[in-house]
Amino acid sequence: LIIGTRIYDPLTTALTNYAEFRYNEQAGERIVQLLEEPVMSGSTDPLPARRGIRFEEVTFGYGGQPVLKNVSMDLPQGSLTAIVGPSGSGKSTVLRLISRFYDPGEGRVLMAGRDLRSIDPEHLLKEVAVVFQDVYLFQDTIGRNIAFGREGATGEEIRQAAELARCHDFIMQLPLGYETPVGEGGSTLSGGEKQRISIARAILKNAPVVLLDEATASLDPQNEADIQKAIQALIAGRTVIVVAHRLKTIAGADNILVLEDGCLVEQGRHDRLLALGGLYARMWKLQQESTGFRISS
Ligand code: ATP
Repeated sequence: LIIGTRIYDPLTTALTNYAEFRYNEQAGERIVQLLEEPVMSGSTDPLPARRGIRFEEVTFGYGGQPVLKNVSMDLPQGSLTAIVGPSGSGKSTVLRLISRFYDPGEGRVLMAGRDLRSIDPEHLLKEVAVVFQDVYLFQDTIGRNIAFGREGATGEEIRQAAELARCHDFIMQLPLGYETPVGEGGSTLSGGEKQRISIARAILKNAPVVLLDEATASLDPQNEADIQKAIQALIAGRTVIVVAHRLKTIAGADNILVLEDGCLVEQGRHDRLLALGGLYARMWKLQQESTGFRISS
């Protein structure tokens, strides 16, 4: 039985990154658990410029059966890697291990050649920007919700990030613009708008590594197009790992990793995977036939 280790952060890190780590309803509870555990420290030495990520024979489970099984893969610096696979195949778990929400039970996850466990957690989190499906907004102004991406950001920097993330126009239509308070959990904004806020936050953070969990919720075509443009602005020139549910959005990825039941079963570019005629090709065909373009949940 392989059980991964849950990682604990100093109080400040846990709070500062609460929104980023809000994967699902359980996250709040987990943060409380994190706070009760001892602080783990690691090296704060600067990382080498090349921040590629590598999984070496990683096996991980949440307590029951392993959900990643002996996975080895490279996610090179400066490239766009997509992770695809059926629902429950372990895609989001890969992102959780890279952001050290959990540590592997067996094997290692490396960034810039260093085991993530040897890097100070706060230091690591500065390197990684995350955009997850379930976006959490604080009960604060919309401007401060974006500024959360970087302490001390100026109004001009917030505005620039919002423009790149295609938020600026809808923000200016709100009664108080950037000073508009957002309701509990950001309930006054649509799902697509909330996601663009979270992309603006990540753009402002300007971290070299971006983890993106594509939203499964269906959006109207305009919102979808805006989000795709916002994502393009976010990922330019960075090391990007995207969990993709709509295969058409990642057909141009540098590498596509196909997970099935916790195992890496195929990898390559879109054309190669289609030619292979395996799981990816079957998922692609299914999505072409369906109207919803959703495969994984
Ligand atoms: P989806 O496309 O549906 O989001 P996924 O491929 O991203 O799925 P993961 O979220 O990585 O899959 O989950 C992999 C497996 O781990 C699933 O069987 C899921 O039920 C289980 N799992 C995920 N999170 C937890 C958790 N916090 N505790 C226990 N089991 C979990």
